[in-house]
Amino acid sequence: MPLLPMRVLLDHAAENDYGVGAFNVNNMEQIQAIMEAARETNSPVIVQASRGARAYSDDNYLRHLMLAAAELNPTIPIVMHQDHGNSPQTCFSAIEMGFTSVMMDGSLMEDGKTPSTYEYNVKVTKEVVEVAHAKGVTVEAELGTLGGIEDGHGAGLTGDEALKHLTDPAQAEEFVAETGCDALAVAIGTSHGAYKFTRKPTGEVLKMDIIAEIHRRLPNTHLVMHGSSSVPKELVDIINQYGGKIRETYGVPVEQIQEGIRHGVRKVNVDTDSRLAITGAIRKVFAEHPEKFDPRDYLKPARTAMKEVVKARMIAFGQAGWADKVPTLTLEDMKRKYHDMGAVG
Ligand SMILES: [Zn+2]
Repeated sequence: MPLLPMRVLLDHAAENDYGVGAFNVNNMEQIQAIMEAARETNSPVIVQASRGARAYSDDNYLRHLMLAAAELNPTIPIVMHQDHGNSPQTCFSAIEMGFTSVMMDGSLMEDGKTPSTYEYNVKVTKEVVEVAHAKGVTVEAELGTLGGIEDGHGAGLTGDEALKHLTDPAQAEEFVAETGCDALAVAIGTSHGAYKFTRKPTGEVLKMDIIAEIHRRLPNTHLVMHGSSSVPKELVDIINQYGGKIRETYGVPVEQIQEGIRHGVRKVNVDTDSRLAITGAIRKVFAEHPEKFDPRDYLKPARTAMKEVVKARMIAFGQAGWADKVPTLTLEDMKRKYHDMGAVG
């Protein structure tokens, strides 16, 4: 089937109370890992590429790899999403490339580092919504500032600083009314990258009550949790056991994400966990078989390790088992829907 607009999948997830992992990719093996996990669990998927990933893989390679994934998996609904678009231009070029969903992150200026004003955020998000919806493409926006940096994107706030830039529920309501975005990334104390928390996060650190309040005000807007890798100790241990140096760190516990899903979170961004799984598997081969030099000898176990972590998340978020039940609407169908909804969005 053709790539699916993200709105269709998130609407279905909302109707059936599940969350969908959005996994980042840069190359063929990562796409294969996600697709294999999806096949084995009958899960619909969101595959996402950051600006850095698009530059690394070259848009055309990525596009054709995604088309290959769709061709080889005709029963799996696949969304292709631009993660953290830094400007309307980045989102427009993604749409040109066939992405069925884009994130306009107007919480930061175009440099992807400097926190912006609310007015700037509304302006750029609205601009993207107008163009994207006219083509049936979904738009995710962000309000509030997340901690950490990922792929060079982020204000670089520490966990404590990020707590001062949480999403304001009243402002979120206003923002969605003004922009017409389909999904909203909220800042609730999570950070990008592997070093999220120096101790196990509790209710003090992760503000689940904010999610609940935003969901109450915006029951029809799909909430997105960024920086939601769980950074499992076993994956960090494998890396360190085979010569790596990852210092003690904690991610977002899967149970906290499930709590978020109960309160309107429909998209859960996971990148770090895949990276950790891949790196651990490669280090293990290098350490145990220093004589090997065929890239397949370490890329295969790396792909399997990522598949396993993705599978575990798909099951935990509740998307497993739904692939064949998601409506197969196209960008054309969504274009008509947005048109009928009229006015904003
Ligand atoms: Zn993010």
